[in-house]
Amino acid sequence: MTESKYPMIPVEEAQQIVLAHVAPLPAEDVPFDEALDRVLAEDVYAGEDMPPFAASAKDGFAVRAADGVQPRRLLGEQMAGLMATLHVEPGTAVRITTGAPVPPGADAVIMVEYTTVEGDTVRLSKAVQPGDDVRPPGQDIVQGQLVLPAGTAIGPAEIGLLATVGQVRVPVYARPRVATMSTGDELVEPGETPAPGQIRDSNRYTLAAAAHRAGATVVDLGHAPDTAEALTTHFGEGLAHADVVVTSGGVSMGELDLVKPLLEEIGTVHFGRVHIKPGFATVDGKPFFALPGFPVSSLVAFEVFVRPALRKMAGFRELFRPRHHVTLRHDVRHSADRPEFARAIVEWEDGRLFARTTGFQGSGRLLSLVGANALLALPHGRGDFRAGEKVEALLIG
Ligand code: AMP
Ligand code: MG
Repeated sequence: MTESKYPMIPVEEAQQIVLAHVAPLPAEDVPFDEALDRVLAEDVYAGEDMPPFAASAKDGFAVRAADGVQPRRLLGEQMAGLMATLHVEPGTAVRITTGAPVPPGADAVIMVEYTTVEGDTVRLSKAVQPGDDVRPPGQDIVQGQLVLPAGTAIGPAEIGLLATVGQVRVPVYARPRVATMSTGDELVEPGETPAPGQIRDSNRYTLAAAAHRAGATVVDLGHAPDTAEALTTHFGEGLAHADVVVTSGGVSMGELDLVKPLLEEIGTVHFGRVHIKPGFATVDGKPFFALPGFPVSSLVAFEVFVRPALRKMAGFRELFRPRHHVTLRHDVRHSADRPEFARAIVEWEDGRLFARTTGFQGSGRLLSLVGANALLALPHGRGDFRAGEKVEALLIG
């Protein structure tokens, strides 16, 4: 029997090895409105109170609460965006709009719905308490407050907060640049008609899309034939222009599976075999992932090993997908001699998550990933599963 020289290691151990060899990239400054899905590299503090002045929470009248329900003499109006110039004396009121500064002298706002106006007299249908419908300065944010700590993933609310505090340029971790390529003498481009024995290259496009979605920018190296010379040239290109290299194919036990031997020559292979065949090396400190050629295996390996690494490089604290126990809707065949990530659709029903697989789970059948929102982590050492059993799922979408 031909044996691989690489020991088979468990997925979790391989993940730890990968993460031990990648670190967050240096920070760069970007305009705040281009920082979506990036990770803050420094703390952001507020330079001012929010609201910066006592602001009306409603459209109505600024009054003194101590005047009770007695009619008020209307002094004028205070609109949002203007400085407060009027002064509310006892027995008077000022018409006010939402977000306008509450004029000095007033300590409450009464909603327009509780008032009637005749000429310059305002009548109140109820009394108000001091502070009613007034947002005091600093109610939302206090000057000097830490609003976004370093390590925050920037979403829509965070973009809004950056605008609020006037932080128009923000330091974020650089996006990893990922070079993707496929290997194989049988590959042609998607726009070509394969000759007998050839197939279209799909992995390079799948992996580029997955890298993009993981927050990376992509350098396309094209596909390389199974020759040491072509592979070496492609690897060199990738290492010169990217932070990470991801290849597909050429990592099995065939004579032309040259990727790992070549990595031994130019770098350090940290593992060469996990149950889904990927290898991981570093070359001059740069992570290099050699993923399998079977389309499903390569995307699943990307999901399990490359995505967490790219997220760590991009500064994210959460590297892994959420996991949840799900109930199988039907029997699932599983071979006990290896773990498997079965592609599945998970749905919420009657307060529980249920899973059904996406059909035939062949490692070449990309259709098994279409519409899948979960990978069922079927463990090593245990055979078929029955409908109604619970398994652990990685929620991937
Ligand atoms: P390999 O890992 O190179 O032995 O390839 C395993 C299987 O995946 C073979 O059937 C290949 O033809 C197929 N394959 C390899 N690379 C690609 C690719 N880039 N796109 C689609 N299928 C591929
Ligand atoms: Mg091949």
